[in-house]
Amino acid sequence: MPTNFYREIINDHNLHPGNKHTLENANLTLRGVNPSCGDDITLLLRVEDDQITDGAYTGDGCAISQASADIMLDLVIGRSKEEALRLADIFLRMIKGSVSDEEMEELEEAGALIDVSHMPARVKCAVLGWHTLENMLKLPES
Ligand code: ZN
Repeated sequence: MPTNFYREIINDHNLHPGNKHTLENANLTLRGVNPSCGDDITLLLRVEDDQITDGAYTGDGCAISQASADIMLDLVIGRSKEEALRLADIFLRMIKGSVSDEEMEELEEAGALIDVSHMPARVKCAVLGWHTLENMLKLPES
């Protein structure tokens, strides 16, 4: 039963992504590519005083890569950089299969991607947006 519910969340974000658009006032932009599947996204963030005040993504790819990026943005917009990095760490550990129930709750809809931990071929799709986010936020301040 949970699996069908999770699939609905992923389908919904893939078909109706609320965060898939350009962001004219973005001050951080980074492209992430997963050649093994053909996923190619660009993540755009507006960061002010260490707070992610807005975000979006553009690009193309499979349902899992697109839904994962869309869900991730829902979760991190409005958070501090530090909180976003902590959530990314939890998500990446969930995919590797080591996450607590409390941490799963913090991931909200991103927890729907837990099934990917049993699908090795799709792992790179699910983590693409999150790795790109980590890379962006860990870059030294310019
Ligand atoms: Zn993919």
